Amino acid sequence: MAIERTLSIIKPDATENDNVGGILQLIEKSGLRIVAMRRMHLTKAQAGGFYEVHKERPFFGELVDFMTRSPVVVSVLEGEDAVAKYREVMGATDPKKAADGTIRKLFAKDIGENSVHGSDSLENAKREIAFFFAEADLL
Ligand code: GDP
Repeated sequence: MAIERTLSIIKPDATENDNVGGILQLIEKSGLRIVAMRRMHLTKAQAGGFYEVHKERPFFGELVDFMTRSPVVVSVLEGEDAVAKYREVMGATDPKKAADGTIRKLFAKDIGENSVHGSDSLENAKREIAFFFAEADLL
């Protein structure tokens, strides 16, 4: 296994419900290290650009509205096998299907408002990290 970096977004439902600390604690407990972090309020253009791959999906408008409703916390996580490990810590997209102890099982409301985003491949992680962070943020 290699040391990887992945992008995490703590989504608006979680910042609205003051679950940021609880989520960061689960991330750190899993062995992933937070190497960069920022709280920000996404514009529609930023949310739409970030989720461009879902542009044709029926829920795209809803997703952009949700992601711009309140601030998010974006961070870069580093560790052994970080991309797959964070997907495990997050749990399934639909919290009803998420395993016990996962972020989505503990905090998410439904398949749309599911508290966190995590990159789904190393290639996407690189693209997503560069979307939010400059090289100088990541030394
Ligand atoms: P992820 O990689 O587990 O986040 O899941 P996907 O890549 O399939 O979907 C991206 C995001 O779109 C999800 O995390 C949800 O916030 C949202 N999403 C996915 N499916 C639905 C849906 O059926 N309805 C709504 N409203 N949002 C959805």
